Amino acid sequence: MFPTSFSYHQAASVADAVAMLAGNPEAKILAGGHSLIPAMKLRLAAPGMLVDLGRVSELKGVSIEDGVATIGAMTTYDELRFAEGVSEAFPILLDAINVIGDQQVRAHGTIGGALAHNDPGADLTAVFLALGGSVQVTGTSGERTVRGEDLFVDLWTTSLEPDEVITRVSLPVPAAGTLSAYKKHAHPASGYAVVGIAIAIEQADGVVSQASIVITGATSKPTRAATAERALVGKHLDHESIAQAAAVAAEGLEINGDTYASESYRAQLIKVLAKRAIESAVSR
Ligand SMILES: Cc1cc2nc3c(=O)[nH]c(=O)nc-3n(C[C@H](O)[C@H](O)[C@H](O)COP(=O)(O)OP(=O)(O)OC[C@H]3O[C@@H](n4cnc5c(N)ncnc54)[C@H](O)[C@@H]3O)c2cc1C
Repeated sequence: MFPTSFSYHQAASVADAVAMLAGNPEAKILAGGHSLIPAMKLRLAAPGMLVDLGRVSELKGVSIEDGVATIGAMTTYDELRFAEGVSEAFPILLDAINVIGDQQVRAHGTIGGALAHNDPGADLTAVFLALGGSVQVTGTSGERTVRGEDLFVDLWTTSLEPDEVITRVSLPVPAAGTLSAYKKHAHPASGYAVVGIAIAIEQADGVVSQASIVITGATSKPTRAATAERALVGKHLDHESIAQAAAVAAEGLEINGDTYASESYRAQLIKVLAKRAIESAVSR
């Protein structure tokens, strides 16, 4: 299929991109194009104007300073996973990036595009939320910071305004000793998460002091498995406490079903993957 006709513009800077988006409700940002272009070809999206961020160098790069990783929105998955210090500070990012699509997708897809698109089967959305990430955005009303829990609204929907560009993603470096991992059951055709689980668990004096367990794939937006999180806090991590938390990981969630995986199958996958993710983090 061919997309509907559109005009194409290369932005030279963030300000340039915002100026082009302003007053053009038909316009959409083009980042890696690995979600938007397929959607346009299927006529699921029909923007009249594309604003390409590919030449905006200020949106590239990764730095880790003062306990925070700052990642330019146009940084690709590959650039992120190979950036200095990332594998040591964020092993969970490598878990997730290594299972995103194929080499072509990892070479072109961007972290800003993944978060702005908010696909219900995306991998990094869950990791971003589990790590307590936020995005810096720029629009006609200026700059603002949006926390992960305020960014994702519903299927493919975020709280970004149409003229807002994600410029940077901030991820706090997990405290020393934090256990983290990402596990997914991939759809055999698309590779997207049927269920994916990102966990980040902090411990103090041998017991869990804080737990983030975030589900993707099964819910319309990345969602915390609050019952399982509560089940872990205050516990020593052992076979029994992990099994107890995993057993309640699907409780309280609004789980979607489709022709590939029913609601009950996804609920079962959540329990299995929650256990695997915690065990994998413990044994890392
Ligand atoms: C074959 C295939 C397999 C895939 N498998 C997986 C998978 O297993 N897991 C997974 O998570 N993803 C997968 N993807 C999706 C891939 O990760 C996409 O690249 C990603 O979701 C979107 O990033 P992008 O840079 O390509 O964004 P684009 O496609 O360019 O844009 C996506 C949307 O975000 C908006 N946008 C982009 N950048 C910004 C910005 N800086 N500020 C505001 N809005 C912005 C665009 O306007 C558009 O609406 C797959 C894609 C393909 C084609």
